[in-house]
Amino acid sequence: MIYIFLCVDFDRDAAFPALGHKHAISKPRQTEIQDILTDPEKSAEIQGSIEGFDQILSFLIKKKLPTVFYFEARTTNLISKRHPEFLKRLNQPFFEKGVHGYDHEDLVGEETGVPLEKQEEFNLIKQAKEKIEELFSTEITGFRAPYMRLSENTQKILLNLDFVYDSSIYLESDKAIIPYSDEHGMIEFPVIKTPKASLMKGMYTYLWPLFEGKRGIKEIVSNYIQLIHNSTEDNSYISINLHSWHFAYSVEQNCYLSQKEIHKNTEFLIKLITKLEEIEGVHFSTPKLWLEDNKLLRKT
Ligand SMILES: [Zn+2]
Repeated sequence: MIYIFLCVDFDRDAAFPALGHKHAISKPRQTEIQDILTDPEKSAEIQGSIEGFDQILSFLIKKKLPTVFYFEARTTNLISKRHPEFLKRLNQPFFEKGVHGYDHEDLVGEETGVPLEKQEEFNLIKQAKEKIEELFSTEITGFRAPYMRLSENTQKILLNLDFVYDSSIYLESDKAIIPYSDEHGMIEFPVIKTPKASLMKGMYTYLWPLFEGKRGIKEIVSNYIQLIHNSTEDNSYISINLHSWHFAYSVEQNCYLSQKEIHKNTEFLIKLITKLEEIEGVHFSTPKLWLEDNKLLRKT
């Protein structure tokens, strides 16, 4: 059996690092005045995630499709205050909830120029975990680093905070993969990047190029089918990764999309899910369910 994980990085609209700011700034707010840019809450826009994710959310709920969400705490907290009904819809038992930073921090400071101190990083991830656990009344086991960038301390911090797995590392592979445990005992579920020389031509398994119009849906579907066909190891997995706002906001064009375009993007993802579901031996799941099926989850 091949596992497919649908992974949603649920964050502020197009979170980008900005020089001198530890929190991310939504791209649509990047030209605002300093007072807004220095405020982690005011510099977060969530319109795209709310409007863009609405249609696909209905589809996932109707199908009860296992999906993993990596929630940015600030965005999720804003949703709970401004759109409590939407938060309720996100709180399905078949949706696994993980953490994606408090304010979508660039943990290593690669682009912000302001790396987090070890204690500061610990406190932020702890607060983010507690916030997500409180909002969804659930226990969190998974983490995905904003911008897929882990600091040298992150994995130890995650272990100390009782996370079970991380999913923030790219691994080059032309087939489904198996998670591994790092030297500290943290389980890593890498995200596949296909080799340039493969039939998939160097594809990150993020749907970014699809929503930005750089790769067509036919090519994406056939690449995923190819990945599945190449897969030989039983219980290996492939993840499909995307951002909550990407149905409704184009980074390249720097603008929000029309309802018609949101619908088109939603249909793209539905098509990909439907095509993969038709393949025999393919099973939609989540990292936590994978660990339970494969009896590797630590006893609590
Ligand atoms: Zn993100």
